[in-house]
Amino acid sequence: MTSAIDPELLPLTSAYGPRGLTVGDVALTELAARFGTPLFVYDEEHLRRRCREAVAAFGRDGVAYASKAFLCTAMARLAHEEGLLLDVASGGELRVALRAGVPADRIVLHGNNKDEAELRTALTAGVRHLVVDSFDEMDRIERLHRAEGLPPAPVQLRVAPGVAAGAHEAIRTGGLDSKFGFGLADGSALAAVRRASASPAMRFEGIHAHVGSQVLDTTELAAGAAAVARFAAGTDAARLTVGGGLGVAYESGQRAPSFARWAAAVRDAVRGAGWSGAVTVEPGRSVTARAGMTLYRVGTIKHIAGVRTYVSVDGGMSDNPRPALYASRYEAFLPRCPGAPRPLRARLVGKHCESGDVVIDDAALPADLRVGDLLATPVTGAYGYAMASNYNKLPRPAVVFVRDGHARLVVRRETEEDLLRLDVPGPAAVPGAAYLASAGATAHGLPVEPVAMPGAGSA
Ligand code: PLP
Repeated sequence: MTSAIDPELLPLTSAYGPRGLTVGDVALTELAARFGTPLFVYDEEHLRRRCREAVAAFGRDGVAYASKAFLCTAMARLAHEEGLLLDVASGGELRVALRAGVPADRIVLHGNNKDEAELRTALTAGVRHLVVDSFDEMDRIERLHRAEGLPPAPVQLRVAPGVAAGAHEAIRTGGLDSKFGFGLADGSALAAVRRASASPAMRFEGIHAHVGSQVLDTTELAAGAAAVARFAAGTDAARLTVGGGLGVAYESGQRAPSFARWAAAVRDAVRGAGWSGAVTVEPGRSVTARAGMTLYRVGTIKHIAGVRTYVSVDGGMSDNPRPALYASRYEAFLPRCPGAPRPLRARLVGKHCESGDVVIDDAALPADLRVGDLLATPVTGAYGYAMASNYNKLPRPAVVFVRDGHARLVVRRETEEDLLRLDVPGPAAVPGAAYLASAGATAHGLPVEPVAMPGAGSA
């Protein structure tokens, strides 16, 4: 494939003019010059439109944004402003949502291994409900209620419906062999409903399932919804949550179903299964993925005759681990010429110390690509920044929202000082063995002889 990047992979307000590609009427080249690279750029208008489309399809209390896809204070606020609930999956995500000013009763807490501190914070704050995942978690909720007088927890119960979907084994979650939820097949789900209904520490409200992620075929999501709806219909549940999972297009020519189509498929499926109560979905990727892109600077280009060309950028698996984790595929383009054909084939790699640090295994790029070029990978707005790490002590990139000609820094770039902030300062550095000896320490129980280090002076 040598054609230009598919516009369907770009954020909705993207436009091409004399300044190269603009998003939100801001040139990507200007953003890179101002904020540096790597840089995550989000089209704020795109994010807001996706939220509105989801609410239009599923109703005001029918959508919880799965914040694991991308969370920061600005994103939590945006989702809340647009009428979405917030799904958080840890105490940390809960903290960000609360700090963003999202009312606790618009937040739901997930997690297959919530600890007591997370449960305590959530219940004290008054979250909308907990999605309970195990009998051990019920033990903890009951203990908190008994010992600390915490109010009864509104709960939905996560079930594993025995239906899994998704683009990779690691993101298929609804099967029988899953760490998540109470199994339908072995009777655990029914036992969980009975226990939650009878316990003074819980208020049973609903059933929850999530069968997998990056699903492009709504019939797969509908099959999961039907399986769990059939079960929920036989309980006193008032609400059914059928998870997230709607996929997005990552490559030219791929197309993703709309929220409206997903809603219609889910509605038909749950009605057909005998469920007439309320339904909630939890989209993550389908809200944020296409709204975001990553800007990198090309640093080296290496041609190996008869083998391939390597193009190295200034980020890699630390800002996008998805290719390494799930063999996820992306495309790339140059913001200075997004409409250019891309006849050059190259392996686009990062700057980390391993060969698995691949951004795009077989990228199509313009023939005049050169060192110093700004390069963009679109559709990185979900599970990119959220999964970023400091591998090789790379500072995590900044995140910028653009809209109506303005760029707003919403997460600043980490600095090298930030990389040191968790290290506990020890004694001043002296040559290792000499220090151990001077401190009277031993190595493996043996006395350590001071070692003269060239240029280090005497120990
Ligand atoms: N809900 C739950 C319980 C999840 O585990 C996930 C993703 O792992 C989601 C929602 C969001 O999925 P997606 O980003 O595919 O929409």
